[in-house]
Amino acid sequence: MAEKRDYYEVLGVGRNASADEIKKAYRKLAIKYHPDKNPGNKEAEEKFKEAAEAYSILSDPDKKAKYDQFGHAGVEGAGPDFSQGFGGFSDLFNDIFGSFGGGFSGGFSDFAGFGGGARGQRRERVYRGRDIRVRVKLTLEEIAAGVEKEVNIEKSVPCPDCGGRGAKDSSDIKTCPACNGTGQITRVTNSFRGQMVTYTTCQQCGGEGKIVSNPCPSCSGTGLVRKRETIKVKIPAGVEGGMQMTIQGEGHAAKNNGINGDLLVVIEEQEHPNFKRDGADLYYTKVISLTDAILGADVEVPCLDGTYKTRVEPGTQSGTIVKLRGKGLPVLNSYSKGDLYVKFAVWIPKKLNRHEKELVESMKDCEAFKPNPTKEEKSFFDKIKDLF
Ligand SMILES: [Zn+2]
Ligand SMILES: [Zn+2]
Repeated sequence: MAEKRDYYEVLGVGRNASADEIKKAYRKLAIKYHPDKNPGNKEAEEKFKEAAEAYSILSDPDKKAKYDQFGHAGVEGAGPDFSQGFGGFSDLFNDIFGSFGGGFSGGFSDFAGFGGGARGQRRERVYRGRDIRVRVKLTLEEIAAGVEKEVNIEKSVPCPDCGGRGAKDSSDIKTCPACNGTGQITRVTNSFRGQMVTYTTCQQCGGEGKIVSNPCPSCSGTGLVRKRETIKVKIPAGVEGGMQMTIQGEGHAAKNNGINGDLLVVIEEQEHPNFKRDGADLYYTKVISLTDAILGADVEVPCLDGTYKTRVEPGTQSGTIVKLRGKGLPVLNSYSKGDLYVKFAVWIPKKLNRHEKELVESMKDCEAFKPNPTKEEKSFFDKIKDLF
Protein backbone atom coordinates (compact mmCIF):
# COMPACT_ATOMS: atom_id res chain seq x y z
CA MET A 1 0.00 0.00 0.00
CA ALA A 2 1.23 3.46 -0.85
CA GLU A 3 2.41 5.83 1.82
CA LYS A 4 -0.52 7.68 3.38
CA ARG A 5 -0.86 11.32 2.60
CA ASP A 6 -1.00 13.88 5.35
CA TYR A 7 -4.61 14.44 6.37
CA TYR A 8 -4.30 18.21 6.24
CA GLU A 9 -2.82 17.95 2.80
CA VAL A 10 -5.66 15.65 1.72
CA LEU A 11 -8.26 18.21 2.76
CA GLY A 12 -6.14 21.09 1.51
CA VAL A 13 -6.18 22.99 4.79
CA GLY A 14 -3.46 24.35 7.06
CA ARG A 15 -2.35 22.69 10.29
CA ASN A 16 -4.17 25.27 12.34
CA ALA A 17 -7.37 25.22 10.33
CA SER A 18 -10.53 25.65 12.43
CA ALA A 19 -13.11 22.90 12.78
CA ASP A 20 -15.35 24.87 10.46
CA GLU A 21 -12.67 25.21 7.80
CA ILE A 22 -11.98 21.48 8.00
CA LYS A 23 -15.66 20.74 7.60
CA LYS A 24 -16.04 23.07 4.63
CA ALA A 25 -12.98 21.64 2.91
CA TYR A 26 -14.29 18.13 3.37
CA ARG A 27 -17.72 19.02 2.02
CA LYS A 28 -16.18 20.39 -1.12
CA LEU A 29 -14.19 17.23 -1.74
CA ALA A 30 -17.11 14.97 -0.85
CA ILE A 31 -19.27 16.64 -3.44
CA LYS A 32 -16.53 16.65 -6.05
CA TYR A 33 -15.57 12.99 -5.67
CA HIS A 34 -18.96 11.61 -4.76
CA PRO A 35 -19.26 8.16 -6.38
CA ASP A 36 -22.68 8.92 -7.82
CA LYS A 37 -21.16 11.82 -9.71
CA ASN A 38 -18.22 9.75 -10.89
CA PRO A 39 -19.60 6.35 -11.73
CA GLY A 40 -16.89 3.78 -12.35
CA ASN A 41 -14.13 6.26 -11.67
CA LYS A 42 -11.67 4.40 -9.44
CA GLU A 43 -9.54 7.43 -8.83
CA ALA A 44 -12.51 9.52 -7.65
CA GLU A 45 -13.51 6.72 -5.36
CA GLU A 46 -10.04 6.62 -3.82
CA LYS A 47 -10.04 10.39 -3.37
CA PHE A 48 -13.46 10.23 -1.81
CA LYS A 49 -12.33 7.60 0.68
CA GLU A 50 -9.16 9.46 1.42
CA ALA A 51 -11.05 12.65 2.19
CA ALA A 52 -13.55 10.80 4.37
CA GLU A 53 -10.76 9.19 6.33
CA ALA A 54 -8.97 12.48 6.82
CA TYR A 55 -12.16 14.17 7.93
CA SER A 56 -13.09 11.38 10.33
CA ILE A 57 -9.81 11.98 12.16
CA LEU A 58 -9.57 15.74 11.96
CA SER A 59 -13.22 16.31 12.92
CA ASP A 60 -12.77 14.36 16.15
CA PRO A 61 -10.87 16.50 18.67
CA ASP A 62 -9.50 13.45 20.43
CA LYS A 63 -8.26 11.74 17.29
CA LYS A 64 -7.04 15.03 15.87
CA ALA A 65 -4.87 15.60 18.94
CA LYS A 66 -3.39 12.13 18.60
CA TYR A 67 -2.77 12.65 14.92
CA ASP A 68 -1.14 16.03 15.51
CA GLN A 69 1.22 14.47 18.02
CA PHE A 70 2.00 11.08 16.51
CA GLY A 71 0.94 11.30 12.88
CA HIS A 72 -0.68 8.30 11.23
CA ALA A 73 0.73 5.95 13.84
CA GLY A 74 -1.35 7.69 16.52
CA VAL A 75 -4.65 7.00 14.82
CA GLU A 76 -4.07 3.66 13.19
CA GLY A 77 -7.38 1.89 12.63
CA ALA A 78 -9.30 4.87 13.96
CA GLY A 79 -10.61 5.98 10.59
CA PRO A 80 -13.76 4.64 8.97
CA ASP A 81 -13.74 1.01 7.97
CA PHE A 82 -14.49 0.85 4.28
CA SER A 83 -14.37 -2.91 4.07
CA GLN A 84 -18.11 -2.79 4.65
CA GLY A 85 -18.74 0.03 2.25
CA PHE A 86 -19.47 3.59 3.21
CA GLY A 87 -22.47 2.99 5.37
CA GLY A 88 -20.22 2.44 8.34
CA PHE A 89 -19.56 6.08 8.14
CA SER A 90 -23.13 7.25 8.37
CA ASP A 91 -22.85 9.15 11.65
CA LEU A 92 -20.24 11.34 10.12
CA PHE A 93 -22.32 11.97 7.03
CA ASN A 94 -25.32 12.74 9.14
CA ASP A 95 -23.24 15.32 10.85
CA ILE A 96 -22.28 16.86 7.56
CA PHE A 97 -25.66 16.63 5.91
CA GLY A 98 -27.40 18.03 8.91
CA SER A 99 -25.95 21.37 7.88
CA PHE A 100 -25.92 20.89 4.17
CA GLY A 101 -29.22 22.46 3.41
CA GLY A 102 -30.05 20.18 0.53
CA GLY A 103 -26.74 19.89 -1.26
CA PHE A 104 -27.29 16.18 -1.33
CA SER A 105 -30.86 15.16 -1.25
CA GLY A 106 -31.56 12.01 0.64
CA GLY A 107 -28.85 12.35 3.24
CA PHE A 108 -26.50 9.50 3.81
CA SER A 109 -28.57 7.07 1.80
CA ASP A 110 -26.56 8.33 -1.15
CA PHE A 111 -23.49 6.96 0.42
CA ALA A 112 -24.96 3.82 1.86
CA GLY A 113 -26.26 3.12 -1.60
CA PHE A 114 -22.77 3.13 -2.89
CA GLY A 115 -21.26 0.69 -0.47
CA GLY A 116 -24.24 -1.01 1.07
CA GLY A 117 -22.39 -1.49 4.31
CA ALA A 118 -23.38 -1.65 7.89
CA ARG A 119 -24.61 1.14 10.04
CA GLY A 120 -22.57 2.78 12.73
CA GLN A 121 -19.35 1.64 14.23
CA ARG A 122 -19.31 -1.61 16.09
CA ARG A 123 -20.83 -0.87 19.41
CA GLU A 124 -21.34 -3.18 22.33
CA ARG A 125 -25.06 -3.28 23.03
CA VAL A 126 -26.00 -2.70 26.67
CA TYR A 127 -28.98 -4.67 27.81
CA ARG A 128 -31.04 -4.12 30.91
CA GLY A 129 -32.58 -7.02 32.78
CA ARG A 130 -36.28 -7.12 33.53
CA ASP A 131 -37.72 -5.94 36.82
CA ILE A 132 -39.20 -8.39 39.26
CA ARG A 133 -42.36 -7.45 41.13
CA VAL A 134 -43.27 -9.09 44.42
CA ARG A 135 -46.09 -8.44 46.87
CA VAL A 136 -45.54 -8.27 50.60
CA LYS A 137 -48.46 -8.41 52.99
CA LEU A 138 -47.99 -6.54 56.25
CA THR A 139 -49.93 -6.32 59.48
CA LEU A 140 -50.67 -2.92 60.92
CA GLU A 141 -48.26 -3.72 63.77
CA GLU A 142 -45.48 -4.36 61.23
CA ILE A 143 -46.30 -1.12 59.46
CA ALA A 144 -46.21 0.72 62.79
CA ALA A 145 -42.79 -0.57 63.76
CA GLY A 146 -41.15 -1.05 60.37
CA VAL A 147 -40.06 -4.55 59.46
CA GLU A 148 -37.51 -6.58 57.59
CA LYS A 149 -39.12 -9.12 55.30
CA GLU A 150 -37.58 -11.93 53.34
CA VAL A 151 -38.79 -12.33 49.80
CA ASN A 152 -38.13 -15.41 47.76
CA ILE A 153 -37.60 -14.78 44.08
CA GLU A 154 -36.37 -16.68 41.08
CA LYS A 155 -34.21 -14.56 38.86
CA SER A 156 -31.75 -14.66 36.01
CA VAL A 157 -28.15 -14.31 37.10
CA PRO A 158 -24.93 -14.37 35.05
CA CYS A 159 -23.93 -17.96 34.39
CA PRO A 160 -21.15 -18.79 36.85
CA ASP A 161 -19.54 -21.30 34.47
CA CYS A 162 -18.90 -18.91 31.60
CA GLY A 163 -18.96 -15.61 33.47
CA GLY A 164 -22.08 -14.54 31.57
CA ARG A 165 -20.37 -14.60 28.17
CA GLY A 166 -22.19 -17.62 26.81
CA ALA A 167 -19.06 -19.64 26.08
CA LYS A 168 -16.35 -20.93 28.36
CA ASP A 169 -13.59 -19.98 25.97
CA SER A 170 -13.56 -16.47 24.50
CA SER A 171 -12.27 -17.89 21.20
CA ASP A 172 -15.68 -19.56 20.84
CA ILE A 173 -17.32 -16.16 20.52
CA LYS A 174 -16.99 -14.77 17.03
CA THR A 175 -18.11 -11.64 15.33
CA CYS A 176 -21.23 -12.37 13.30
CA PRO A 177 -20.19 -12.60 9.63
CA ALA A 178 -23.64 -11.65 8.35
CA CYS A 179 -23.67 -8.21 9.96
CA ASN A 180 -20.01 -7.88 10.80
CA GLY A 181 -20.84 -7.44 14.44
CA THR A 182 -23.20 -4.50 14.10
CA GLY A 183 -26.33 -6.57 14.68
CA GLN A 184 -28.03 -4.87 11.75
CA ILE A 185 -28.48 -5.69 8.12
CA THR A 186 -28.64 -2.87 5.65
CA ARG A 187 -30.76 -3.20 2.55
CA VAL A 188 -30.67 -0.78 -0.32
CA THR A 189 -33.52 -0.59 -2.77
CA ASN A 190 -33.81 1.62 -5.79
CA SER A 191 -37.05 3.40 -6.42
CA PHE A 192 -38.12 6.32 -8.55
CA ARG A 193 -37.49 8.57 -5.57
CA GLY A 194 -33.93 7.43 -5.27
CA GLN A 195 -32.23 4.95 -3.07
CA MET A 196 -33.87 3.74 0.07
CA VAL A 197 -31.91 2.23 2.88
CA THR A 198 -33.55 0.03 5.47
CA TYR A 199 -31.95 -1.44 8.55
CA THR A 200 -33.19 -4.67 10.01
CA THR A 201 -32.03 -6.73 12.94
CA CYS A 202 -29.58 -9.40 11.84
CA GLN A 203 -31.34 -12.75 11.85
CA GLN A 204 -28.20 -14.78 12.14
CA CYS A 205 -27.11 -13.33 15.48
CA GLY A 206 -30.43 -11.91 16.63
CA GLY A 207 -28.92 -8.44 16.74
CA GLU A 208 -26.17 -9.49 19.12
CA GLY A 209 -23.38 -9.02 16.61
CA LYS A 210 -21.79 -12.13 18.04
CA ILE A 211 -22.09 -15.80 17.36
CA VAL A 212 -21.23 -18.38 19.95
CA SER A 213 -19.82 -21.44 18.21
CA ASN A 214 -19.43 -23.63 21.26
CA PRO A 215 -22.11 -22.56 23.74
CA CYS A 216 -21.58 -23.01 27.43
CA PRO A 217 -23.60 -26.11 28.38
CA SER A 218 -24.75 -24.60 31.68
CA CYS A 219 -26.59 -21.69 30.09
CA SER A 220 -26.93 -22.88 26.45
CA GLY A 221 -24.99 -19.84 25.36
CA THR A 222 -27.37 -17.27 26.82
CA GLY A 223 -24.95 -16.31 29.56
CA LEU A 224 -27.78 -16.41 32.07
CA VAL A 225 -29.08 -19.04 34.46
CA ARG A 226 -32.08 -19.08 36.80
CA LYS A 227 -31.46 -18.93 40.50
CA ARG A 228 -33.68 -18.87 43.58
CA GLU A 229 -32.74 -16.16 45.95
CA THR A 230 -33.95 -14.91 49.28
CA ILE A 231 -33.62 -11.19 49.59
CA LYS A 232 -34.06 -9.24 52.78
CA VAL A 233 -36.15 -6.16 52.28
CA LYS A 234 -36.16 -3.44 54.90
CA ILE A 235 -39.57 -1.83 54.99
CA PRO A 236 -39.75 1.50 56.79
CA ALA A 237 -42.49 2.31 59.27
CA GLY A 238 -45.57 4.07 57.97
CA VAL A 239 -45.90 2.49 54.51
CA GLU A 240 -49.35 2.07 52.96
CA GLY A 241 -51.01 -0.55 50.82
CA GLY A 242 -50.28 0.04 47.13
CA MET A 243 -46.92 1.68 47.71
CA GLN A 244 -44.01 0.31 45.76
CA MET A 245 -40.43 0.14 46.89
CA THR A 246 -37.64 -0.17 44.36
CA ILE A 247 -34.58 -2.16 45.27
CA GLN A 248 -32.12 -1.28 42.59
CA GLY A 249 -30.25 -4.00 40.78
CA GLU A 250 -31.99 -6.92 42.48
CA GLY A 251 -34.05 -7.82 39.41
CA HIS A 252 -33.08 -10.04 36.51
CA ALA A 253 -29.55 -9.88 35.18
CA ALA A 254 -29.12 -8.90 31.53
CA LYS A 255 -27.37 -10.50 28.59
CA ASN A 256 -23.79 -9.51 27.85
CA ASN A 257 -23.26 -8.60 31.50
CA GLY A 258 -25.57 -5.63 31.12
CA ILE A 259 -27.46 -3.75 33.78
CA ASN A 260 -29.58 -5.62 36.29
CA GLY A 261 -33.27 -4.89 36.52
CA ASP A 262 -34.83 -3.79 39.81
CA LEU A 263 -36.80 -5.62 42.44
CA LEU A 264 -40.14 -3.89 42.96
CA VAL A 265 -41.79 -4.60 46.29
CA VAL A 266 -45.48 -3.81 46.35
CA ILE A 267 -46.94 -3.30 49.83
CA GLU A 268 -50.21 -4.91 50.79
CA GLU A 269 -52.02 -4.31 54.04
CA GLN A 270 -53.76 -6.92 56.13
CA GLU A 271 -57.02 -5.80 57.61
CA HIS A 272 -56.82 -5.20 61.34
CA PRO A 273 -59.52 -6.58 63.67
CA ASN A 274 -59.66 -3.36 65.73
CA PHE A 275 -58.43 -0.44 63.74
CA LYS A 276 -59.37 1.33 60.59
CA ARG A 277 -56.68 3.40 58.96
CA ASP A 278 -56.67 6.74 57.21
CA GLY A 279 -53.13 7.77 56.37
CA ALA A 280 -51.26 7.87 59.65
CA ASP A 281 -54.45 8.17 61.73
CA LEU A 282 -56.25 5.22 63.26
CA TYR A 283 -59.90 4.85 64.20
CA TYR A 284 -61.27 2.66 66.93
CA THR A 285 -64.75 2.18 68.34
CA LYS A 286 -64.94 1.69 72.11
CA VAL A 287 -68.21 0.30 73.44
CA ILE A 288 -68.96 1.68 76.93
CA SER A 289 -71.70 0.89 79.45
CA LEU A 290 -74.68 3.14 80.00
CA THR A 291 -73.62 3.79 83.59
CA ASP A 292 -70.06 4.70 82.55
CA ALA A 293 -71.52 7.06 79.96
CA ILE A 294 -73.69 8.69 82.64
CA LEU A 295 -71.33 8.66 85.59
CA GLY A 296 -67.97 8.82 83.83
CA ALA A 297 -65.14 6.28 84.08
CA ASP A 298 -61.60 5.44 83.05
CA VAL A 299 -61.61 2.86 80.25
CA GLU A 300 -58.89 0.96 78.46
CA VAL A 301 -58.30 1.44 74.75
CA PRO A 302 -56.00 -0.86 72.75
CA CYS A 303 -53.19 0.83 70.88
CA LEU A 304 -50.66 -0.70 68.50
CA ASP A 305 -48.06 -0.61 71.27
CA GLY A 306 -50.22 -1.88 74.15
CA THR A 307 -53.26 -0.52 75.95
CA TYR A 308 -53.93 3.05 76.90
CA LYS A 309 -56.25 4.42 79.60
CA THR A 310 -58.61 7.15 78.60
CA ARG A 311 -61.30 9.09 80.44
CA VAL A 312 -65.01 8.85 79.71
CA GLU A 313 -66.47 12.09 80.99
CA PRO A 314 -69.81 12.01 82.88
CA GLY A 315 -72.62 12.54 80.39
CA THR A 316 -70.73 11.18 77.39
CA GLN A 317 -73.02 10.80 74.38
CA SER A 318 -72.87 7.77 72.13
CA GLY A 319 -70.71 8.78 69.18
CA THR A 320 -68.43 11.11 71.11
CA ILE A 321 -64.93 11.03 69.71
CA VAL A 322 -61.76 11.58 71.65
CA LYS A 323 -58.37 12.02 70.07
CA LEU A 324 -55.35 10.24 71.51
CA ARG A 325 -52.56 12.38 70.15
CA GLY A 326 -49.59 10.54 68.66
CA LYS A 327 -51.13 7.11 69.16
CA GLY A 328 -51.56 6.55 65.42
CA LEU A 329 -49.01 5.28 62.90
CA PRO A 330 -45.66 6.83 62.18
CA VAL A 331 -45.64 9.12 59.16
CA LEU A 332 -43.40 7.65 56.47
CA ASN A 333 -39.93 9.20 56.37
CA SER A 334 -40.69 11.48 59.26
CA TYR A 335 -40.51 11.58 63.04
CA SER A 336 -44.13 12.62 63.46
CA LYS A 337 -46.99 10.29 64.22
CA GLY A 338 -50.66 10.19 63.47
CA ASP A 339 -53.42 10.15 66.09
CA LEU A 340 -55.80 7.52 67.36
CA TYR A 341 -59.46 8.57 67.26
CA VAL A 342 -61.65 6.71 69.70
CA LYS A 343 -65.39 6.77 69.23
CA PHE A 344 -67.52 5.85 72.20
CA ALA A 345 -70.58 3.75 71.55
CA VAL A 346 -72.95 3.36 74.48
CA TRP A 347 -74.16 -0.17 75.06
CA ILE A 348 -77.89 -0.40 75.59
CA PRO A 349 -78.82 -3.56 77.53
CA LYS A 350 -81.15 -5.87 75.63
CA LYS A 351 -82.51 -8.26 78.24
CA LEU A 352 -83.26 -7.11 81.76
CA ASN A 353 -84.44 -9.15 84.73
CA ARG A 354 -87.31 -7.98 86.86
CA HIS A 355 -85.19 -6.12 89.36
CA GLU A 356 -83.19 -4.33 86.62
CA LYS A 357 -86.34 -3.42 84.79
CA GLU A 358 -87.77 -1.87 87.97
CA LEU A 359 -84.60 0.18 88.39
CA VAL A 360 -84.85 1.58 84.91
CA GLU A 361 -88.57 2.21 85.25
CA SER A 362 -87.93 4.20 88.40
CA MET A 363 -85.75 6.58 86.31
CA LYS A 364 -88.36 6.96 83.60
CA ASP A 365 -89.89 10.12 84.88
CA CYS A 366 -86.64 11.73 85.99
CA GLU A 367 -86.26 15.08 84.29
CA ALA A 368 -82.58 14.39 83.51
CA PHE A 369 -83.43 11.35 81.37
CA LYS A 370 -85.53 13.32 78.89
CA PRO A 371 -83.56 14.06 75.72
CA ASN A 372 -82.65 17.70 75.58
CA PRO A 373 -79.58 18.13 73.36
CA THR A 374 -77.93 21.50 73.22
CA LYS A 375 -77.33 23.23 69.91
CA GLU A 376 -73.67 22.06 69.78
CA GLU A 377 -74.70 18.51 70.50
CA LYS A 378 -77.21 18.53 67.66
CA SER A 379 -74.67 19.66 65.11
CA PHE A 380 -72.20 17.17 66.57
CA PHE A 381 -74.58 14.28 65.87
CA ASP A 382 -74.79 15.40 62.27
CA LYS A 383 -71.02 15.50 61.95
CA ILE A 384 -70.22 12.08 63.33
CA LYS A 385 -72.54 10.39 60.92
CA ASP A 386 -69.93 10.94 58.22
CA LEU A 387 -66.93 9.98 60.30
CA PHE A 388 -67.49 6.28 60.90
ZN1 LIG B 1 -25.36 -10.63 12.86
ZN1 LIG C 1 -22.75 -20.28 30.78
